[in-house]
Amino acid sequence: MDNKRIYLSLPRQSGSEQDYIQRAFETNWITSGGPNVKEFEDTLEMYFGEKSFITALNSGTSAIHLALVVLGIKAGDEVICQSMTFSASANPILYQGAVPVFVDSEKETWNICPEFLEIAIEDRIKKGKKPKAIIAVHLYGNPYKIEEVHAVADKYDIPIIEDSAEALGSCYKGKNCGAFGTIGILSFNGNKIITTSSGGALISNSKSVKEKALFFATQSKDKAVHYQHSEIGYNYRMSNVCAGIGLGQMEILEKNIQERREINSFYKESFKNIKEVTVFENSNQDFFSNCWLTTILVDYHNEKDINREKLIMAFENENIECRPLWKPMHLQPIFEEYPYYGKNIAESLFEKGLCLPSGNLSLEDKKRIKQVVENFFV
Ligand SMILES: *Cc1c(COP(=O)(O)O)cnc(C)c1O
Repeated sequence: MDNKRIYLSLPRQSGSEQDYIQRAFETNWITSGGPNVKEFEDTLEMYFGEKSFITALNSGTSAIHLALVVLGIKAGDEVICQSMTFSASANPILYQGAVPVFVDSEKETWNICPEFLEIAIEDRIKKGKKPKAIIAVHLYGNPYKIEEVHAVADKYDIPIIEDSAEALGSCYKGKNCGAFGTIGILSFNGNKIITTSSGGALISNSKSVKEKALFFATQSKDKAVHYQHSEIGYNYRMSNVCAGIGLGQMEILEKNIQERREINSFYKESFKNIKEVTVFENSNQDFFSNCWLTTILVDYHNEKDINREKLIMAFENENIECRPLWKPMHLQPIFEEYPYYGKNIAESLFEKGLCLPSGNLSLEDKKRIKQVVENFFV
């Protein structure tokens, strides 16, 4: 058996990426923006359905930053953010000089807890500042509690930035994740469900949001013959070469989702009789996950000497990558001074949780993974 490394989330190619890239070269559109970018945006707008407006950008992080800019978040403003997430959800708050306020997860979706969200909003208002935006995340492709979270946001009239970086193709009650927020964002980083090598997008149901995002993303040039600027500009537009990769990738989005969901079933089957392990599962049919990453919780078991760290080591010994869940933002050195509302749900998920290899696995890879599981839990 060869022992090549099995990675957490490898991209898969459709084969037509290079045709679109070649077109960019043949037409000499080797720049940011261009025909591939326009076509990639059109394809995404078709995917998200009518009244969706997409701006293709150079990363998911820049999409979150521009969402804050478009919503007018300024220095000193407070922005609520799910604590359990990747740091890219929260860093753009600091780019704006704004203040992040972190909120715990709930146990069902592992995403922002609507109860602590409301407690946080009430308390911030009492302390003198109403939060200007809420960043909610569909972690690992699992939709957050859309109805409950949006009910709270609506009650206080606070816009939601829907971080759908990990959730392209996930749905809640049949509607695509990314399309629920005032502004949604996607990531096409190399490890996501589709890739443009690096890229992102901003989604809204408003043409004026799209136009504003495009304005800021392309250096905020005022309408004038000379270069005239009355707003801070950014260089955040997607490259026409990268958009070519995206066009090729869109052809296999559904296949990727299907594959990752099958991998999720493989893990459910593999851990079926192991009582120390719980594979994450959506609470009901309303929540449809793209299964970007399959995640598990590993219980501590003293007698059998079983715990998460030992399981990571068992996988690593067989050259199989797996990672703990995202470390909550309120526990990160860079964010620890900011307010946090919650208990210890995110913390305990972080202590017990593990992400497993979930993309582009061969039959041989699955066999090796299953072997580790069988040897470890004897
Ligand atoms: C990947 C990711 C981002 C950032 O996207 P990039 O394209 O890598 O900048 C933001 N939020 C979450 C939850 C992510 O997983």
